[in-house]
Amino acid sequence: MDPDSEEDDDWTKYADTGYSSSYDPWADMVPATEIEEEEFDDEFDEFGDNESTNRDIPRCPAPSGIEHAIRIGTCNHCLGRVAGVRIAGDPLQLVGERVRKQALERDSDLKPDVGIDCCPFCEDLFLELDLIAGRIVTAVDGVEFSKVQLGIHFSKDHVAAEEVLRSTLAGTGSRPLKTTLSDAVQSAVTERLPGIVWVKERPEVMLLFDTLTLGVNADVRALFLYGRYRKLERGIPQTRWPCRSCRGRDGGCESCNGTGQQYPCSIQSLVCEPMIESSGAISDSFHGMGREDIDVRCLGDGRPFVAELKSPLRRTLDLEKLMKDINKAAKNQIEIHGLRLSNRAEVSRIKETKAEKSYTIRFTGDHGLTDEEVTTRIQSLSGQVLEQQTPQRVAHRRADKIRNRKVVSIENILITDDEIQFDVRCESGTYVKELIHSDEGRTNPSVAALLEADCEVILLDVKDIHAD
Ligand SMILES: [Zn+2]
Ligand SMILES: [Zn+2]
Repeated sequence: MDPDSEEDDDWTKYADTGYSSSYDPWADMVPATEIEEEEFDDEFDEFGDNESTNRDIPRCPAPSGIEHAIRIGTCNHCLGRVAGVRIAGDPLQLVGERVRKQALERDSDLKPDVGIDCCPFCEDLFLELDLIAGRIVTAVDGVEFSKVQLGIHFSKDHVAAEEVLRSTLAGTGSRPLKTTLSDAVQSAVTERLPGIVWVKERPEVMLLFDTLTLGVNADVRALFLYGRYRKLERGIPQTRWPCRSCRGRDGGCESCNGTGQQYPCSIQSLVCEPMIESSGAISDSFHGMGREDIDVRCLGDGRPFVAELKSPLRRTLDLEKLMKDINKAAKNQIEIHGLRLSNRAEVSRIKETKAEKSYTIRFTGDHGLTDEEVTTRIQSLSGQVLEQQTPQRVAHRRADKIRNRKVVSIENILITDDEIQFDVRCESGTYVKELIHSDEGRTNPSVAALLEADCEVILLDVKDIHAD
């Protein structure tokens, strides 16, 4: 399991506030219309003009460079950022104030030119820190989290114009707008929410701030819980299964008693509904390490699963109590154990794990052989590789092909008058019912062929899943 491979969705890419990054992940979300292109060109032209008329202006920290920065309306944050006089640890705004004061001491008439209405570097974003922090706090109100990541979206034009201006005027070592604003927003939010930690990956809440609209979007990441379930009763599907007649729409129909579900409950509903209640999540997904047929129990140590709880309000759950509540409500139906925190990477892991499984299977067969002969013939399957053509019962949803699956071992063969039972351990993906009845010769070898009899499966249990 690679913990760094978690959260492979796109949100994290928006949050790159690295110094050297000029990659704009939102670029393709902004429609590149012709009009915008023209405006973009105009802006470059304007900067071109400024440059030619101000060709003799040296860069900061030269006094005339700083004076020019003040005349074009640079705010204190940006002045502190571009003046080239920062002492490590000083807040940029204070640096800017100090630089401005010194400049005014040299020339008390120094002020922004007529007609300047905002800072040309940040378009006054630094003046909106209170508003931005307030919106972020509102967006996460009522959500329990500590690890949070911030992504800031700038318009392409703004970033390009700022870089041009900074490259002509700023002192060496000036920090880019994006990282500086990101730091400033983070400090402003931390002042209001002292318990939070800013992270660059795997956040519990992903914040997206758009500099154009000043809008904030908070994406509360899912909470993942791992456990194992034992299915004690037949007839329960693993996941919710919408009613065949109404497909679960419009509050159900007559045939599903208004539940919208084909079956009254599922392992998913029995496990996840108490989790939803205690976490305040809005919905869930259930990821099992494979699944048993609806008429098959799952015993032994149970089947590993990860429950995914989406947009939870609470993350600190009493897992022991939760487990007890689930097991009490689902008594005699299912039972879970080993509940612990998990993550998205583990979902992939349990989906990809090819665990061997042991089954107990019971069947009838009109064979006319002695018990000893039956035992010998069934035992001969141990260690053999089966050729299994896709069973007819699943042919509508699986490609029709032949799979080779190994029978690892066969144990505990029990023979009564008209029933035979044994335990079989086999490779992941073995069709066990077909191993018995042969699916009209599609599985080879099979118990039916070896006993030269028609065999019919009476019951099947997953005895154990050999995982973890
Ligand atoms: Zn500014
Ligand atoms: Zn229905």
